[in-house]
Amino acid sequence: MDIGVIGAGAASAAAAYAIHRDAPDAHCTVLEKSGGVCGRAATRRRDGTYYDYGANYLKDDDERIVSLVTERLESDGLVSVDGPIHVFDEDGTVGEGRQTDERKLTYRTGITQLAKRLFAETDATVNRHTRITGISRDGDQWLLTDADGDRWGPYDRLLCTPPAPQTARLVREADWDDDRRASIAEAAEAVEYRTILTAVLGYEFALEVPYYALVNTDKRHEIGWIAREECKPGHVPDGESVLIVQANDRWSVERYDDDPTDTVAELARLTADVVGDARLETPAWTDYQGWRYAQPERGVDRDAVESAERDGLYCLGDWVAGEGRLHAALRNGLETGERVARSLEAGD
Ligand SMILES: Cc1cc2nc3c(=O)[nH]c(=O)nc-3n(C[C@H](O)[C@H](O)[C@H](O)COP(=O)(O)OP(=O)(O)OC[C@H]3O[C@@H](n4cnc5c(N)ncnc54)[C@H](O)[C@@H]3O)c2cc1C
Repeated sequence: MDIGVIGAGAASAAAAYAIHRDAPDAHCTVLEKSGGVCGRAATRRRDGTYYDYGANYLKDDDERIVSLVTERLESDGLVSVDGPIHVFDEDGTVGEGRQTDERKLTYRTGITQLAKRLFAETDATVNRHTRITGISRDGDQWLLTDADGDRWGPYDRLLCTPPAPQTARLVREADWDDDRRASIAEAAEAVEYRTILTAVLGYEFALEVPYYALVNTDKRHEIGWIAREECKPGHVPDGESVLIVQANDRWSVERYDDDPTDTVAELARLTADVVGDARLETPAWTDYQGWRYAQPERGVDRDAVESAERDGLYCLGDWVAGEGRLHAALRNGLETGERVARSLEAGD
């Protein structure tokens, strides 16, 4: 049986893992538009530095996912983030906030290891730089077209993992039953997203503060989150500091199309203010990423998207799980993969 998977994020990797475990004769072909895997749980490398510039870490909220990551997957290089998360308010006043003993997990070489290690457990073929632009139904099977006009398939099952607005566009334009595609597209279009502009600020000195990260709890500050990558073992050479700064939703929407140089400079200025260290205004190097669809604000109507499973089309990801979190995307990927495997076994 052949399975096509659009996207190579965390949900995709978890689904491929579950399908390979439960239906080893099935083969997954994964089509990913970018040059890497793990989607919004993203890592970049610069000289000796690794930084997670999308999802910051994996929370230990889901026992099944924690046991997958710590016991079933290769755990060499899995690390816990050191240090507490403090809070700040609209005026930039920093306080200790509520302390928890939650574990925050990533890898020495970055959070993208999660998808890499999941795919490594399978025989899936992962095709990068392949943006899917068309879906069509041919009898009982699915065919795909990419942006270069190349055709993929046929597939007995199709897994669609892009964020809801991107999945909605693909499904709405699919060559398939009019009513089915309209109801799924409508459900996916109703999912709203938080937009985040991320600035990465690198410094050639070690920052001496008592926290790993600062979160804006009243959601009124221009910045929502400031985190120190040097609190992740292996990420930043000794004596240096790398800050991940995420702007809040409203600020990010207003400036989404602005010149990134100006946006990064403004975020560095605001960061210096909140942390109380004027040196932070002038980073030695910077990086930038705009995330238009950073995190879903709520989940999709699951009955609508799951109705397509009768035709072998499965939607999955954090927006289907109903929580814009990495562990939720992984959990939803595992559960969807298990349903796919069961449907193959039943010969549906
Ligand atoms: C800035 C930011 C901070 C975050 N912080 C945290 C955090 O601290 N903790 C946490 O738990 N979660 C966090 N999240 C959320 C977390 O990253 C997501 O919930 C999770 O990664 C979603 O995984 P997914 O597989 O559902 O989707 P994605 O990771 O979006 O995977 C979808 C994949 O599909 C690909 N794709 C899209 N369209 C196409 C196409 N047409 N053809 C081919 N491929 C396509 C994409 O490139 C992507 O690789 C954060 C997200 C962002 C952006």
